[in-house]
Amino acid sequence: MINTTKNQTDTKAKVQQPIDRRQPFLVIDNVHKVYPNGYRALENVNLTVAEGEFITLIGHSGCGKSTLLNMVSGFSHPSEGSVTINGEKITKPGPDRMVVFQGYALLPWRTVFENVYIAVNAVFPDKSKVEKNAIVNEHLAMVGLTEAAEKRPPQISGGMKQRVSIARALAIRPKVLILDEPFGALDAITKEELQEELLKIWNDHRCTVLMITHDIDEALFLADRLVMMTNGPSATIGEVLEIPFPRPRDRVQMMEDPEYYNLRNYALDFLFHRFAHDEDA
Ligand code: ADP
Ligand code: MG
Repeated sequence: MINTTKNQTDTKAKVQQPIDRRQPFLVIDNVHKVYPNGYRALENVNLTVAEGEFITLIGHSGCGKSTLLNMVSGFSHPSEGSVTINGEKITKPGPDRMVVFQGYALLPWRTVFENVYIAVNAVFPDKSKVEKNAIVNEHLAMVGLTEAAEKRPPQISGGMKQRVSIARALAIRPKVLILDEPFGALDAITKEELQEELLKIWNDHRCTVLMITHDIDEALFLADRLVMMTNGPSATIGEVLEIPFPRPRDRVQMMEDPEYYNLRNYALDFLFHRFAHDEDA
């Protein structure tokens, strides 16, 4: 059986939010976002995330996934409603919330080591150089980049660049790691490797993860809960799927489980039938 909170989906106005009873850590409370040009991107978004949860977010391109997570990172603000962490309203970006983008955002003229060091130095200016070096080295090792520490971004592969971005984000020890389609530009094998590494790191450190992806298998493999968004304008959370597979997860084992296909088909049906991209066209 698929464990989901069903909504009324006949009209968007009637979409109800999933009821969530877990211990609140990150709370997205009745968030609306209207851009200055009048575009109503999001309406009535509610989500409560527990500390240490791994949430994946899917929805069609342009539905408002980045808009939503930008309000968690603090780059953008809700027009109505609030986003809070431990009851405190998010008003600006901060080192407790680190973001990893698809485009890596590395300084190309700096080495791998320096790219991470600069972030560590900015957030922990009072630590000694030895301590900062140790933090950088620890996190480069975590993503298997010790050997590449002296290389510059143009000299390394896309997968390695994304490992640098992840190491840089984690080196700050954020409470929340926000990943906006981080593996979207990578080939399938590199992507699977990075998913495994990310899960291992998350298992060891248990920060809260919010990850946007357009890959349903990625979303299912990684998540505790999969958040599915409706289309914009006035997009909202349509349904939230609980992903019940035990951890640590084994991809092959998981994909042999008939429940995996139930969940996969359910998500596909949501995206390509119930909320097909052209439904309003
Ligand atoms: P997603 O990440 O799901 O692909 P976005 O959150 O980037 O979608 O965008 C959601 C919608 O809001 C899109 O229609 C996009 O064109 C619009 N949008 C994003 N940023 C702005 C902005 N600064 N001003 C006006 N509209 C915007
Ligand atoms: Mg986006």
